[in-house]
Amino acid sequence: MATDALKNFVDGEFVTPKDGGYQDVIDPCTAEPYLRAPISGQADVEAAMRAAAFGFQRWRSTTPAERQLALLRIADELERRTDEFTEAEVRNTGNRAAADVALVVDQLRFFAGAARIIEGKSAAEYVPDHTSYVRREPVGVCAQLAPWNYPLMMAVLKAAPAIAAGNAVVLKPAETTPATALMFAGLAAEHLPSGVLNVICGGDDTGCRMVAHPTPSLVSLTGSVETGIDVATRSAPQLKRLHFELGGKTPVIVFADADIKAVTATAIEAGFGNAGQDCTAAARVLAHHTIYDELVDALVTAARSCRIGPPSEPEALYGPLNNARQLQRVSGFLERLPSHARVLTGGAVAGDIGYFFQPTVVADVRQDDEITQREVFGPVITVQRFDTEEEAVQAANGVDYGLAASVWTRDNARAMRLAQRLDYGTVRVNTHFAYPSEMPHGGFKYSGFGKDLSTYSLDDYSRIKHVVHHTGSGAALN
Ligand code: NAD
Repeated sequence: MATDALKNFVDGEFVTPKDGGYQDVIDPCTAEPYLRAPISGQADVEAAMRAAAFGFQRWRSTTPAERQLALLRIADELERRTDEFTEAEVRNTGNRAAADVALVVDQLRFFAGAARIIEGKSAAEYVPDHTSYVRREPVGVCAQLAPWNYPLMMAVLKAAPAIAAGNAVVLKPAETTPATALMFAGLAAEHLPSGVLNVICGGDDTGCRMVAHPTPSLVSLTGSVETGIDVATRSAPQLKRLHFELGGKTPVIVFADADIKAVTATAIEAGFGNAGQDCTAAARVLAHHTIYDELVDALVTAARSCRIGPPSEPEALYGPLNNARQLQRVSGFLERLPSHARVLTGGAVAGDIGYFFQPTVVADVRQDDEITQREVFGPVITVQRFDTEEEAVQAANGVDYGLAASVWTRDNARAMRLAQRLDYGTVRVNTHFAYPSEMPHGGFKYSGFGKDLSTYSLDDYSRIKHVVHHTGSGAALN
């Protein structure tokens, strides 16, 4: 039985949940509990919102320079404690890939800089005898809901732009991965006024209470499409602002002139890394009919040589899925495959301890198949055939999602045509994962709206006010 108990972080201190509710946190490598985390009820949500409302009053009047300095100090401290955060993240997720602390440090430093270059239209006399200018202001308290795939990074991608723009935050990590968000809140509190960053634990019910609470002006969610729809519906009566990073189903479009070796190596890493639990995982390969067989063979050979195992095994490409429900969900997709789809390798749970799933390649899938249309979020790559460029575009765009796509070709003009036509928030050419802090990450269609990373994310966490002064000596305009 797990005995160590985590605490919520509210108003600058670690606190026990008010009604004393806890649940186990499971090590996904062993399926054994190793920690306990609070289940926050209404009183905890109230306390966190109250603290954030006070925190906001102090933080909103800080200068950009003060906010920058705080974020830089937080980044430095996180960098200094990289090993400690890495260890906690790897234990909680079972995947080394989930714990890229250096990248998170860079993101914090980026937002520290971004705090000082918030832009708007120039002040000017757009009407005679009247001077107009724009104020960019924080929106207030932000309720933020994070998923379990990259727990620390997801927490920072939400909290850092909000704080840089002068807001206060109540963040809820996923119920299965609360450890590093709480550690981060404790670390950040050394450099922030109390109440600016509050982290409360709990599941979907706690999230619902946060959304329904009147204090937050904005709800930011990284999660599934279904959750996005539910949160949007529950937010509607209060017309809260929304910022949604939802699911994805990334097409990897491979033309006849592509470098098959490079595609294979990248698709394996980007399809199976972090056990495929990545919103832009290379999940859906679309291959030109002339190289279809060659690419399928290469993917199958590479998948068969993949080692999986706990993070203690240095050769393992990936570890377990995050939780028992996700293992069941991934298995379900394989069980429901139509008869024309061919599972060429993998397709089942791996081992009998923990939540491991075999590296899986499924060929000959069709556009209407469930596995083409729905996000699996596991180590499963499907392969689908196309004949013409037009057909590739139609197939790539023919899903509800629109988060990221990659295009593989040596023909630059073709790559540029696809970049224009693909209905995706990010298009990558002859590469797959690339997340510079300066560039926006976010989707179209059911993948959501609003951006993570880049200065564009500050637009989501700020509001724009027009102020106009009468400057003439005569009467003001009506
Ligand atoms: P999820 O939608 O189940 O949960 C996300 C968060 O929302 C959790 O904290 C959860 O407790 C909370 N929540 C769930 N239902 C809620 C409700 N009705 N009201 C309020 N809060 C609620 O997602 P998950 O299973 O934790 O994560 C996997 C999903 O996240 C995948 O679909 C993945 O694509 C998506 N994701 C997207 C991005 C992106 O950048 N677009 C990044 C990572 C993960």
